Amino acid sequence: MKNFALIGAAGYIAPRHLKAIKDTNNELIAALDRFDSVGIMDSYFPDADFFVEPERFDRHLEKLKYDKGIELDYVSICTPNYLHDSHIRMALRRGADAICEKPLVLNPWNLDALQKMEQESGKRVWNILQLRLHQSIIDLKKKVEAAPKDKVFDVDLTYLTSRGNWYYTSWKGDFSKSGGIATNIGVHFYDMLSWIFGDVKQNVVHVQTHDRSAGYLEFERARVRWFLSINYDVIPEEIKAIGQRTYRSITIEGEELEFSGGFTDLHTRVYEGVLDGNGFSLEDARQAIEIVHDIRNATPIGLKGEFHPFAKI
Ligand code: NAD
Repeated sequence: MKNFALIGAAGYIAPRHLKAIKDTNNELIAALDRFDSVGIMDSYFPDADFFVEPERFDRHLEKLKYDKGIELDYVSICTPNYLHDSHIRMALRRGADAICEKPLVLNPWNLDALQKMEQESGKRVWNILQLRLHQSIIDLKKKVEAAPKDKVFDVDLTYLTSRGNWYYTSWKGDFSKSGGIATNIGVHFYDMLSWIFGDVKQNVVHVQTHDRSAGYLEFERARVRWFLSINYDVIPEEIKAIGQRTYRSITIEGEELEFSGGFTDLHTRVYEGVLDGNGFSLEDARQAIEIVHDIRNATPIGLKGEFHPFAKI
């Protein structure tokens, strides 16, 4: 049984990590969040210690080690994106591996620095890239690999979701903390696309605002028009009419990828891989981090070239 600590225990995604730690028969020994609304811990690890101050959290872990011989094996990181780098460093300094939410870091050079720290500490950094374990995505990768090597696929990616006004007040709406929509929401999709279709050849941004982002990505094996939005108004009327606030579509050569279910327990699957030494590494995270960094720093060219039809809205 491995010992875990978790940072960001009061947030939206933390329960999936608590569940993954529990499902893989491991122990949570301590958690940290500066917000103390963490009753959720009772459903998983009522005996874990909880802290709102990093100093006391750190002291506790140190005392467990030196007074009781209890080693920390992993730190799960569920904090805002801009804090991942710091919290990963905390984990490695404590002699634990880090299991960190996406996007692992905001900039490609952060990966280089963390790689050095991995070498110095002998500990590893693992990333949650759960879409790579989704059956539809695995099947698509196999299909692409089985196709003639010179085949380049035409792909349209549309992800329309709805976020209320809270989003813009929270860290998620703060470009410097979340990286904006393409970084915060899109990173899953860019990772999946580059995993399936290979290296990036071209990265063009058409639109980039507070509530939507659109562009064109060319990979070795795909030409992708992409559009992401968090504004309810962008959702097609027929989707709103059936009471849905999210619309997700990925077409490959005009054919819809069936991608609606199959999301439950993917965090647990990622944890299983990590525990077997087969998790997603810093290097696995690199291409998507490069893509989101380039999107974030691009000057949008407007509606020119291969833009997604929704970009006109
Ligand atoms: P959230 O705002 O709901 O939770 C973040 C938590 O971190 C909060 O409880 C906050 O109090 C805490 N926190 C902030 N600063 C802290 C600090 N310095 N020390 C300790 N705790 C601190 O956000 P969320 O939606 O749970 O997102 C957390 C992470 O998970 C983000 O990186 C996000 O991109 C990622 N995420 C991943 C998925 C996925 O599908 N894999 C889905 C949603 C979010």
